[in-house]
Amino acid sequence: MRPSEKLKSELYHWLAKNLLDPTSLDPMPTLYIDRKFCYDKIDHSITLGWDLEREDLPEAFNNWLLRHGLIWNNLPYPMLAFLHEVGHYKTIDSIPHNDMYITWWIKGILAYHREKEDINLYWNTPDEYAANMWLINFANNHEEAINELGDIFCNYWNDAIEGN
Ligand SMILES: [Zn+2]
Repeated sequence: MRPSEKLKSELYHWLAKNLLDPTSLDPMPTLYIDRKFCYDKIDHSITLGWDLEREDLPEAFNNWLLRHGLIWNNLPYPMLAFLHEVGHYKTIDSIPHNDMYITWWIKGILAYHREKEDINLYWNTPDEYAANMWLINFANNHEEAINELGDIFCNYWNDAIEGN
């Protein structure tokens, strides 16, 4: 099995075990590995991104989460980014439509001005805020699942992105 397939297989297993209610009709998210982390609500896919365009992003993201209550201060960035996209998967349908207009409007503006000081504005848009709050709440209350996920990223992430 290719390293990237091994990583995805481990993550599917983790998602099924820790997140998905077997009685739920929610579709399982599809996982991809490409340049950028993202969640696509149309096909319920989570993309794991290996291209960190901005080197200051992991630290800024970690600091934002710590400021908003995350009790883990040592989780690797790809794992936090993955949990953030899972947060979109779990929360996107609960964002009121009017709030999504705010999100699209702010993100449209920020797309032209991606500066360091915009990070707080970006993560305070309704959908990003909801995804991060889901992340913090889940991580703070599921120690075993977080340790399992940490092992997966520790064991498979580097091989997956290099051998991708
Ligand atoms: Zn997001």
